[in-house]
Amino acid sequence: MQSVFSVSLGVLLALLLALAVSYFYLRDITQKKHAILRNYPIVGHLRYFFEELGEYFRQYFFLGDREERPFNRSTRAWVYRMAKGEGGVLGFGSTYNLHEPGALLFVNAPFAILEEDRQPTPPAAIGEGWCRAPFSARSVVNISGMSYGALSKPAVRALSRGAADAGCWMDTGEGGLSPYHLEGGCDIVMQIGTAKYGVRDADGRLSDVKLRELAALEAVRAFEIKLSQGAKPGKGGVLPAEKVSEEIARIRGIPVGQSSLSPNRHPDIANVDQLLDMILRVRDVTGKPVGIKTAIGGWQFMNMLCDAVNRRGIGDAPDFIAVDGGEGGSGAAPQALADHMALSIDEALPRVVDALIESGLRDRVRVMAAGQLVTSARAAWALACGADFVNTARGFMFSLGCIQAMRCHANTCPTGITTHNERLQRGLVVEEKWQRVANYCRNMNKEIDMIAHSCGLHHAREFKREHVRIVQADGRSTALNMLYPYPLRRVPS
Ligand code: SF4
Repeated sequence: MQSVFSVSLGVLLALLLALAVSYFYLRDITQKKHAILRNYPIVGHLRYFFEELGEYFRQYFFLGDREERPFNRSTRAWVYRMAKGEGGVLGFGSTYNLHEPGALLFVNAPFAILEEDRQPTPPAAIGEGWCRAPFSARSVVNISGMSYGALSKPAVRALSRGAADAGCWMDTGEGGLSPYHLEGGCDIVMQIGTAKYGVRDADGRLSDVKLRELAALEAVRAFEIKLSQGAKPGKGGVLPAEKVSEEIARIRGIPVGQSSLSPNRHPDIANVDQLLDMILRVRDVTGKPVGIKTAIGGWQFMNMLCDAVNRRGIGDAPDFIAVDGGEGGSGAAPQALADHMALSIDEALPRVVDALIESGLRDRVRVMAAGQLVTSARAAWALACGADFVNTARGFMFSLGCIQAMRCHANTCPTGITTHNERLQRGLVVEEKWQRVANYCRNMNKEIDMIAHSCGLHHAREFKREHVRIVQADGRSTALNMLYPYPLRRVPS
């Protein structure tokens, strides 16, 4: 009896399977959208399956430790170890290829600095002497702009608490200042994007009242006018109506449930003089340092900016310039812009610093560098080029547990960092992750200092271009000060 039942169940299943196969066969062969399925019904689906999963197969099984992009496994693993406080020590030698063009080397000193002669890296003041409330920034490494909304609530909360513990600042991104940014008590750099979210009046124009309200908060240390970001220079965006919840609307200063447009440029800033006017206005109203964030496309912008400052007076200069390399990418961006727009930080940073030196503004304007600077070596390179600070978004995302699934724009982030799905956010436990944020920041600073000491420097602010060498196409390295010689000052002091 039982065997008769098993046989009929088997026949039934085989029948159902045959029916399903026939149905999909007919559907594939008659549809007109996909050539592969029309020519290879049923089996053609394997292509789409592997195309979808190929990224993950490559990530876990096939790609070498140093091959993946934007961040290879070795780099990600290093950040995870820093964030967990497991140290950056390895055994049996490095897999970093010292012979590959572009390889980064530091010039070790024959007589390194003794332990007892090391000095803590001093804080650097931003806007000192040029505004009522200058900002003394303690950490070399800081959290780059990421908006609440792009980041989930637990991600912002963990970053805020971690930043407060490690003593670094957190940039709000252009989405306004949320209560979650303030929760940990860290220093805040308030970003002003093209839509003026968080600092706009009912008509979308910059509001002095809102600026004053924000400046009254002690945590808000500086304001940053964003001209562009490395991932998508010259591209605005639309915040769809369904994402404009009551809370987002309140934080950004826009109507609930209506789509909101970020223009691709500040409508009220069309040239360097208007930019400097805006900087002056925000600084006058808030009394706090005001700088700009921009990707760099060529030398013209920096030359025009420096010339305008010297024409108008040094007091009109931005208090800082945050240079974002074309490899920046924590925000969702069209591939054409992400792949091809703006200079990489390797080229942009030394040129920005050179423009400031040539025009006699280097001591007036602080420089921050960003663009895949997630390791201590890359951060030390940026300091050697002339940066005062290093900003990273994705380094801190890794510290929160990002696995580079690259679904940030799809609301399906598996680690809860960039999704509004509460079930996925559950995976990001603030109590656990803020400590990793703090560890990552502290260990980055510590390792940058370690590299400085090996170069014979007392601390990280003593780096110069001559401490770095870059391997060239012929396999030999060239000192950074030969590749980018320090320029002469062309504006008399
Ligand atoms: S895990 Fe993926 S989706 Fe989430 S933040 Fe990282 S890259 Fe973006």
